[in-house]
Amino acid sequence: MEGEKSNTYEVIIIGGGPAGLTAGLYASRARLHTLLIENALFGGQMTTTEAIDNYPGFPEGVTGEELSRLMEEQAKRFGMETVNEEVLEVKLEGDTKRVQTSESSYLCEALIICTGTEYRKLGVPGETEFTGKGVSYCATCDGAFFKDSRIIVVGGGDSALTEALFLTKFVKDLTIIHRRDALRATKIYQEKAMANPKIKFLWNSVVQEIKGDTVVRGVVVKNVKTGEITEFETEGAFLFVGLLPRTQFLTGLVQRDEAGYIITDENCGTSVKGIFAAGDCRKKLLRQVATSVGDGATAAFAAEKYLEESK
Ligand SMILES: Cc1cc2nc3c(=O)[nH]c(=O)nc-3n(C[C@H](O)[C@H](O)[C@H](O)COP(=O)(O)OP(=O)(O)OC[C@H]3O[C@@H](n4cnc5c(N)ncnc54)[C@H](O)[C@@H]3O)c2cc1C
Repeated sequence: MEGEKSNTYEVIIIGGGPAGLTAGLYASRARLHTLLIENALFGGQMTTTEAIDNYPGFPEGVTGEELSRLMEEQAKRFGMETVNEEVLEVKLEGDTKRVQTSESSYLCEALIICTGTEYRKLGVPGETEFTGKGVSYCATCDGAFFKDSRIIVVGGGDSALTEALFLTKFVKDLTIIHRRDALRATKIYQEKAMANPKIKFLWNSVVQEIKGDTVVRGVVVKNVKTGEITEFETEGAFLFVGLLPRTQFLTGLVQRDEAGYIITDENCGTSVKGIFAAGDCRKKLLRQVATSVGDGATAAFAAEKYLEESK
């Protein structure tokens, strides 16, 4: 079939974050016929990051937007094709992998999954209702709407603290609500947050409900030690309570851990021959731009070896 032929690639990459863009750079530079499928913006989570301070090569730091633009430009330089579609399913047809998207169907010999993670929801009443009306998961995207406001930030990890520090540029004050009495975040972020006069902490507390009328007006907070329930006035609720791997569309295809992260060997190979996983979507210790880029390079090189050996 002519249509099938034009939709057939040696390598398909799903996801255009740093892992996918690096895999694309390596695969297309190795002269492999490569397609990258991305359903949103090239750059992935980097596009929602104000400043990246720990990616080598940028001694003064770099904005997520700029790093995304540079990686996209470099990846496309060697002829990689791209489409803006969402992958819904992957099926095996012998050694061939069929990638079904919202628009079309593509075939490949080697597949590299780089779909990253998404924000975990708090799962409380009002969260869905007020998303975009005071509830946010992205300070870079929405921070400017909260100029001189009093807001809350939920969470105690790196994302919560870096986002809170960024939000202090806009807000009058903010309270970090955390379910424990100590933070999980890296020490440098803890020190910065503790020293910032605009940031207060509410320890051992969980948000039980988000309330409002047309926009958020307050949250109901429970102290997990005493059981005491209080209502807290706020104009915004920024929620950073962890991440979920975006691997649901792979159910039954490759081996994943209990949280849904793809299990790989040291060369990013999955339980299925010819399918590789790179970046935040795979089970690993550190999820960062630098480690995603390393994974992307490894996965593309491993895919190249797989294609050579299967000829
Ligand atoms: C607020 C914030 C601040 C951060 N700060 C830093 C920092 O300072 N330094 C640092 O090193 N790291 C930082 N990180 C982490 C870093 O951004 C991630 O580790 C990195 O982006 C992961 O890269 P990735 O390519 O694996 O996945 P992602 O960047 O998540 O990209 C995955 C891509 O896959 C696409 N996708 C997913 N599912 C599908 C599908 N079914 N079909 C098509 N496309 C799909 C998504 O749209 C996305 O573009 C930060 C993250 C956040 C959220």
